[in-house]
Amino acid sequence: MSLIFVSIGLLLTLLLAHFSADLADASALKARAQVAADAAALAAVAESGPYGTGQPERVATAFARANGGRLLDCECRPGAVEMEVTVAVHDVVARARALLDVELLGPASFSGAVHGLDPKLAVAVDRLVEASEGAVTVTSGYRSREQQERLYRAALNEYGSPEIADNWVAPPGGSMHERGLAVDLGGDLDLAVRLIEKLGLPLYRRLDNEPWHFELVP
Ligand SMILES: [Zn+2]
Repeated sequence: MSLIFVSIGLLLTLLLAHFSADLADASALKARAQVAADAAALAAVAESGPYGTGQPERVATAFARANGGRLLDCECRPGAVEMEVTVAVHDVVARARALLDVELLGPASFSGAVHGLDPKLAVAVDRLVEASEGAVTVTSGYRSREQQERLYRAALNEYGSPEIADNWVAPPGGSMHERGLAVDLGGDLDLAVRLIEKLGLPLYRRLDNEPWHFELVP
């Protein structure tokens, strides 16, 4: 059983790693089963991440197969930040659990984040940050079309294909940040949720799998 904290870089590394594990003896088979399980768990949790397709079991099946294994079991609730898989290579069984570390995957930050936001959202975010006494921060607020384009191009460069880049950054024109209707918060997100409720602020989390992303209540 391996326990993995995911960043996308690690995911790509593991996808490459299986090419060197093409050996036939029993210990190699065990290693190969573990690699297949790791890859399946990582792929599943990545698909659960921001802008993923929300079909973790389907990708876990595909990645287990790509690594010479078959998926026996997948505790893969779409939107969850934790996935556990069981994979077999021939009759050797391995398990892996991958956790999405939302701190690592959090979006790039901009200075002057509150500038450009819808005024109602800006007031609510100011009140929230003040009430938290610095425990809640704004990591990203309004983005111009150019900023979103830059982010998207950087993701394309890093991940090589639109299919993967789309999992992490919305394409230009597709983000509520461009309309000034969303902020990404950092720091103590549980406290943020409690304060939003306590103060009756017009903010809500739209997506389970993007816990840092808050939008103005329509
Ligand atoms: Zn966001």
